[in-house]
Amino acid sequence: MTRAGILARLTAPDAFALFAEARAIRAKTKGDACFLRGLVELSSVCDRDCLYCGMRHSNARTHRYALDDATIVACARLARELRFGTVVLQAGECPALWTRERVAGLVRRIKGETGQRVTLSLGERSEADTAAWREAGADRYLLRFETTDRALFARIHPGASMAGEHPRLAQLRRMKAQGYEIGGGFMLGLPGQTLASVADDLLTLADLRCDMVGVGPYLAHPDTPLGRDATPSEVPVSVDFTCRCYALARLLLPKANIPSTTALSTLDPAHGRVAGLNAGANVFMPNLTPRTVRADYQIYPDKVCVVAPEADSLAALRADLAAAGLAQQEG
Ligand code: SAM
Repeated sequence: MTRAGILARLTAPDAFALFAEARAIRAKTKGDACFLRGLVELSSVCDRDCLYCGMRHSNARTHRYALDDATIVACARLARELRFGTVVLQAGECPALWTRERVAGLVRRIKGETGQRVTLSLGERSEADTAAWREAGADRYLLRFETTDRALFARIHPGASMAGEHPRLAQLRRMKAQGYEIGGGFMLGLPGQTLASVADDLLTLADLRCDMVGVGPYLAHPDTPLGRDATPSEVPVSVDFTCRCYALARLLLPKANIPSTTALSTLDPAHGRVAGLNAGANVFMPNLTPRTVRADYQIYPDKVCVVAPEADSLAALRADLAAAGLAQQEG
């Protein structure tokens, strides 16, 4: 697919044919399987100052927490009981808290005690750290590159080192070589973002040969500099536009695992989740973070989660999967 072809489909008057094409490809590559990944948000402590994120270091108005290892392993056991098959360990970026040795130990324990796959999402880390975690058994790593527009990336990531390749693209390539399944992705509707750059973001997913794709709308957080930035964006923050990106990602990467994201559900709690699945997504990430701290992982306001193990929440999710012609599969 060319950049012009992608732009044409991003801006066409409607996307019914695009969504149908994406569903047909998903049916061929994935059947009716929808994978549930248990998300554990390890901590809201973060050294970085990303202009868009409510957990940024300089935000004094957010409460910080960090889970201990026993709690994290208990969350992973819960994922096993719910037959999710994968646990995703995500945290604000803090190498002092999530040391190479500690994370390697956690990965070994979770793999040993639950036999599940482990996905890590701990931000920008050294080649030696990710090598050690791979060695310990980590299967996958999620690291959104946020935008391939270098000037925009530099503007919203203070202190980013932009001398060489985009730092997150470079890390994704390194991790692919280390044998990880890699997950790249980006936000939609950032102030100053262009449609052309979103077409490049999609092409970059294919160029990286991403195994997973994490794309979601940017949701302004009032306690962040970007949340107060009125610079217009060419890119709409909408369910339809986000779904077009899922569908195009499915066309570009037929076998990729593509979640219908929490941010999409937050944008439209009644319809977002199903809309994502109907546009070719095949993954959903219920939140397993303990109830006592869940509200403190506030990257944007009013985050809408499927919270496991609350039965009604999971039942509603399964009803949505059925409505989209999908069924939960372990993996
Ligand atoms: N520290 C890790 C990292 O940076 O990859 C993982 C945690 S980070 C909070 C996870 C993702 O949240 C980011 O990659 C970003 O795309 C998303 N995010 C942060 N703030 C957001 C916002 N205001 N709206 C939508 N997504 C946001």
